[in-house]
Amino acid sequence: MTDRGKNLIFAADLGGTHLRAATVDSRGQIHFRAKQNTPHGTDPNEIVAAVVHAVQEYSGDLGSDPDRLKAISLVVPGTVNVETGTVVKAPNLPCLDGFPLAAALTDELGLPAILENDANAAAVGEMWQGAAQGCRTIICVTLGTGVGGGIILDGELWRGVDGAAAEIGHMCVDPFGGVACTCGSRGCLEVFASATAIVRMTREASPRYPESVLHASRNLTSESIFEAGLQGDELALEIFRRMGVYLGIGLANLINILNPEMIVIAGGVVNAWGLFEKHMLHEVEERAFPLLAARVKIVRAKCGDDAGLLGAARLGFTA
Ligand SMILES: [Zn+2]
Repeated sequence: MTDRGKNLIFAADLGGTHLRAATVDSRGQIHFRAKQNTPHGTDPNEIVAAVVHAVQEYSGDLGSDPDRLKAISLVVPGTVNVETGTVVKAPNLPCLDGFPLAAALTDELGLPAILENDANAAAVGEMWQGAAQGCRTIICVTLGTGVGGGIILDGELWRGVDGAAAEIGHMCVDPFGGVACTCGSRGCLEVFASATAIVRMTREASPRYPESVLHASRNLTSESIFEAGLQGDELALEIFRRMGVYLGIGLANLINILNPEMIVIAGGVVNAWGLFEKHMLHEVEERAFPLLAARVKIVRAKCGDDAGLLGAARLGFTA
């Protein structure tokens, strides 16, 4: 088998809940898929074993050809050192902190292995196969449990000197709000625009909206609040208005600093796009330089849950 035959990347996305894996070809087509629970023990080798298990599942699959695997490319929910293949800090998987994950995978599987941060990988995935195809300078903002960011400048991921750049969720958008963030700071975008924030803000505002269907709800989720908003619930509409305002302030700052062609908004909260879009765009219009605001397209992501896997694959092919 020549290297020419090695035309698939085995991409794996190590989420806080699930480890999703796929083989991806150089055109971005996904072939094999696998999914299992992410191990949450104290031994990083359990995570290595889970990835190895996914590769073995692929190898045992009818029609698979393990000789076609060019590399393993792993998406990690945290800061990684891309050069050394080491996880620097993964807040939801602390057993990986400081662990040379790429080397451990290469030892087990005999394949080159690379790591990338989840939001960075999603940005690359959206530029390769999603909403930002054809663009060179984009920002990808992921609104999930937290708020993640990936910045691509003139076709290159901007990782910063320590691989920790693009923490868009931790840009301060409210110095007086006093809402504490998991990062140790206060008033970060994440405490106003994440799914977690939407639930918290709804609880806080609930006493002022006794008529709201959410008032008595014990199991508030960002989805249930979104559903209520679709039905015209005043509390839900107010929360997504506020969320859109904060997000718009953050985006205006980014637009003024980086002059991007496109901002791609990803993550589960994007389902509520119709509820926050106009408030977000209004703030951008009010706050960003007119020339820059007119240029940038602010759009929904297209790759869904596959953005990270696709981005990891792309990085695997170009590594
Ligand atoms: Zn923060």
